[in-house]
Amino acid sequence: MDFYTGCVLRLDLTDLRATVEPVDQDWAHLYVGGKGLLLRYLFEELAPGTDALAPENPLVLATGPFAGTAVATCSRLAVGCKSPATGALLDSYVGGSFAPELKFAGYDAVVVAGRAPHPVLVLVEDDLVEFLPAEGRFWGLETAALEQKVREEMGPWHKVLSAGPAGEQLVPFACLSTDQYHKAGRGGAGAVIGSKNLKAVVVRGTGAVTVGDARAFAAEMLTLQNERILTPDNAWTWEEGTPYLLELVNAAGALPTRNWRSGQFDRAPAIQSAELLAVRTRIRACTQCPLACRQVHAFGDHVCEGPEFETLGLCGANCGIGDLATIAAFNRSCDELGLDTISTGAVVGLAMDLCEKGAADYGLAFGDADGYLAAPGLIARREDWGAELALGARDLAALNGRPDLAPHIKGLELPAYDPRGTFGMGLGYATSDRGACHMRAFTAADDILGGDAPPDSLAGKAALTVEQQDFSALAWTGVWCANMYIDTDFLGAHFRRLWGRETSHEELMTLGARVWNLGRLVNLREGFAREHDRLPAVLDVPHPDGVAAGKTVGAAEFEAALGEYYRLRGWDADGVPTEETLARLSLDVRL
Ligand code: SF4
Repeated sequence: MDFYTGCVLRLDLTDLRATVEPVDQDWAHLYVGGKGLLLRYLFEELAPGTDALAPENPLVLATGPFAGTAVATCSRLAVGCKSPATGALLDSYVGGSFAPELKFAGYDAVVVAGRAPHPVLVLVEDDLVEFLPAEGRFWGLETAALEQKVREEMGPWHKVLSAGPAGEQLVPFACLSTDQYHKAGRGGAGAVIGSKNLKAVVVRGTGAVTVGDARAFAAEMLTLQNERILTPDNAWTWEEGTPYLLELVNAAGALPTRNWRSGQFDRAPAIQSAELLAVRTRIRACTQCPLACRQVHAFGDHVCEGPEFETLGLCGANCGIGDLATIAAFNRSCDELGLDTISTGAVVGLAMDLCEKGAADYGLAFGDADGYLAAPGLIARREDWGAELALGARDLAALNGRPDLAPHIKGLELPAYDPRGTFGMGLGYATSDRGACHMRAFTAADDILGGDAPPDSLAGKAALTVEQQDFSALAWTGVWCANMYIDTDFLGAHFRRLWGRETSHEELMTLGARVWNLGRLVNLREGFAREHDRLPAVLDVPHPDGVAAGKTVGAAEFEAALGEYYRLRGWDADGVPTEETLARLSLDVRL
């Protein structure tokens, strides 16, 4: 079968046993790969109500069919499980070079279950799978040190997907790391791998992925790359990367500042893209990506990739930190310890706010670098006051009697677009399948970053949100990167190769909707309902200043937009897909 290896590697950590089974052909047909295949496995293997940190929570690593081929940006990995941060589904994506290596080793996906009797590292070298004791050798290492040790002991081409110390300590916003700077950041997959006593999966593959007529395929991919990817629309990736967003979002009054008290940061000029370009040393790329959006900077002796826009927003403005070297040092600590920078910045900003309001005494203050720089280490190791911050924003705020200050939806901390400056993002966050996420629907592109949609209205945003969520679900079946402008015409050229026949915009968007609805079923089964599709109270307070001053997403307007969203999705008033919708989408599961 071209593009697929046809094999799933199953790791039973309880019995330290590895087995290989064929990829379910019906699932590959209906859900393709990446997010789709991941959710289908999750639906099948996750017993409703399972604790996210219990051995029974399956961790799924899914490639897309184009990983390991000449298709640009598709060498990304989808990671999924039930999230310890939210209790909802989690799908998180990471670039680098792990996914193609997994394909070269002979696997489309890995399903990890159980809990090892002692810490282990799983080594996969083609069809050889070993469970290596990790205690005293790998366990406890920070991410870069672990990768270095693996390269020294096993070989320079072995790829590592690992938990840092935060994952070992089950911090609910611990991430997974690969190639040092690449993170499956959101939702706590690092804690799930830690709960399984699994430090890392290391993979080395010597096989290949077949694509049919390789010469014709390579020629077509080169044409698509030149004509559809390396375009002026996408030039921002290699010219500046995501930091270019900071100036625009700040100007729109949508940059979270000092725990969401404001949408504009007075020190934004000191941390925006122009300042980063002044210390940029080079750019890097994930495997098989011509866009090379990864910016490498030098801050004195400290050379690192990033910070990205989200890190600048949450770990910079949201904490009142207006110094790039300080933010980069915080970023590096999070990377080494295996912490998601969005959630960590959100939690530290909240803790600063709690201190300033006299609700807590962590010794933190907006703009004060000392406690700020100590926070990642204390959180990751659950030491001192870091143990309370390690609860995550929702539980930290509740613990200190101020749940109204917590910037989260369904337990996942908000990303760096304040809905008071871009209303549509609020609807996208509230209806996102994994909690507050800016990557599933990105209506900010249609108001504050371009387009002519009004930022302070939800008119038309329900339809936009549905369309963008379905498109992202579609694109992530092939695990294309979201950092470029693409459409179904572009994706269709690849699906034509995959399926060996013509396809259409309607068929592809139906695939996206099928995957999105499958995720809804997973979440409904876990007890989520309309009452959870909500914006947090912290956004009810209007900004006192800036472009978005005085604006909030009103409750009545939000309810109307949510109802419209459900209607457009073919869900009932409680947010449950109707039988007609499931049948129209050819979903093969029911609640
Ligand atoms: S655009 Fe950036 S993040 Fe996306 S695949 Fe390319 S290098 Fe990786």
